[in-house]
Amino acid sequence: MRLSTYFLPTLKENPADATMASHRLMVRAGLIRPLAAGIYSWLPMGWRVMKKVMEIIREEMDAIGGQEFQLPALNPIEIWEETGRVEAFGDTLFHIKNRPLVLAPTHEEIFTTIARDNMKSYRDFPQIWYQIQTKFRNEPRPRSGVIRGRQFFMKDSYTFDRSFEELDKSYLLHREAYKKIYSRSGLKFFIVGASSGAMGGTGSQEFMVESVDGEDTCALCDDCGYAANLEVASSAVKPVGRLDDSRSIEEIHTPNAKTIDQVAAFLKVSTDRLAKSLVYKTDDTAVLILMAGNDQLNEAKLTAALGKGAVPMQPEELALSTGAGAGSIGPVGLKNFRIIADKRLEDANELISGANKDDYHIAHVDLMRDVKVDGYYDLRTISAGESCPGCGHQLRVVNAIEIGHIFKLGTKYSAALHASYLDEAGEEKPIVMGSYGIGVERIIACHIEQNHDDNGIKWDKAVSPFDVHLASVNMDNKDVVAAADKVYSDLKEAGIEVLYDDRQGVTPGFKFKDADLLGMPVQVIVGERNLKQGNIELKFRSTGERKVVPSAQVLSEIKSYLAN
Ligand code: ATP
Ligand code: MG
Repeated sequence: MRLSTYFLPTLKENPADATMASHRLMVRAGLIRPLAAGIYSWLPMGWRVMKKVMEIIREEMDAIGGQEFQLPALNPIEIWEETGRVEAFGDTLFHIKNRPLVLAPTHEEIFTTIARDNMKSYRDFPQIWYQIQTKFRNEPRPRSGVIRGRQFFMKDSYTFDRSFEELDKSYLLHREAYKKIYSRSGLKFFIVGASSGAMGGTGSQEFMVESVDGEDTCALCDDCGYAANLEVASSAVKPVGRLDDSRSIEEIHTPNAKTIDQVAAFLKVSTDRLAKSLVYKTDDTAVLILMAGNDQLNEAKLTAALGKGAVPMQPEELALSTGAGAGSIGPVGLKNFRIIADKRLEDANELISGANKDDYHIAHVDLMRDVKVDGYYDLRTISAGESCPGCGHQLRVVNAIEIGHIFKLGTKYSAALHASYLDEAGEEKPIVMGSYGIGVERIIACHIEQNHDDNGIKWDKAVSPFDVHLASVNMDNKDVVAAADKVYSDLKEAGIEVLYDDRQGVTPGFKFKDADLLGMPVQVIVGERNLKQGNIELKFRSTGERKVVPSAQVLSEIKSYLAN
């Protein structure tokens, strides 16, 4: 490709709104252009990368027996109503104004109806179906460039099996395929246990790339390999437990002591003996949640415990239903609330809690005696430095970007959409499903996050838009142009993808800057001075190493470099 005729608008300045290197570099290197918040156009250079990543995904999905589909992005809203997901997605779902249609944010519903209508017998199983397709989500905070878009490409696949044992096999096939896809895309990644949330399902894992800008947080044990999203991570934190002397409850005046630390200081007890009360509500229930001391409630864990989403109760409503402000709520004598507690508080006694009366607390609370606890759940957010639940080693907590998610759905969608089959005995059984997603843009952005320097991108050959960046730096010298033209045709003939900077009137310095910004693995620089000695200069972008070689060796040097 000759740069003189290629559409490649590069920029010297960083886009003002870009905080992440990948976002800055994708715009500056002419890969993408913003159209609106969370919506991007892919320019020719960016689209070449996209196609390469998609091809890697296709090859690995085909290798596990995946069959490629292409489903409509426009979906009748009724199907989404049948599974309850118009409500579940809420404002994230894009609605069409003049028809009862929605823009699909994912495709469980449509794939399931195809399976339901066409797979009736146990002989029809198993199946692995996938597509690489545009998804639409009205993300409330689109940011970080293409990492969180309102329109993005997802590889989504779905497995259909007869049993949970067979689902386990389909799930493992995906796990292995994903490892290959991300490795081939040149990413350093890790896998964590993940939340199945209100979606139900029987297990899921996420593929993560560590990044300070990541919106996910994960706990990692460097010793035994324990790895979990904070939404499900646990630690070997000590239970609060029971003290020997259990006294009768007693109301105590605690003026001006509102926070856990203030109350603990005022009463001269350890913060762990305080049972903090948080008040949430679901669509039909008010819920009081007890946490030990300063432990933080994890809302994803709460959703999993309740089986549905819950939001904090607002102060006015709180005062109406308990008679007290947020700092003085407590479980003793509280009516019309479902009371649940964090596992650390299981069966604990000698606790201090709010008295449902401003400026008062209750001491000596025994959860086995004084409170009807509906259930103990793991609800707390763990912190760095706590002990690994597997081996006791200190946990590390890191931010990460989710690049993929594999999910054992079980029968949630087949039950909702009545997708069943007849087994060997002629008995009707629900289809057992899995669903698996990859964010295609996120692979590209994360690749750049992990492979760049101040000057620009450093592509791995596997996803690089071109293999070689050839620059002729003295376009007014006929010999230089002839030599560069020859390298260009030799490389092309050898099947090597080459971008040829043959622009007139562009200074050498400018060409070098562009070459570093664009980031092809190998740069070939044809210039007057070297050529006089019959030489051409090579520069390897990843290390910055330079090498001057005789013209005749350029092709073999590049071939051997790219082969490694
Ligand atoms: P997140 O928690 O980041 O919003 P998600 O849990 O909503 O992700 P899934 O529904 O599991 O994501 O989608 C599958 C994959 O699609 C994700 O693992 C991620 O890589 C990608 N993805 C999800 N939302 C976006 C988005 N708004 N823009 C780009 N890629 C996305
Ligand atoms: Mg999301």
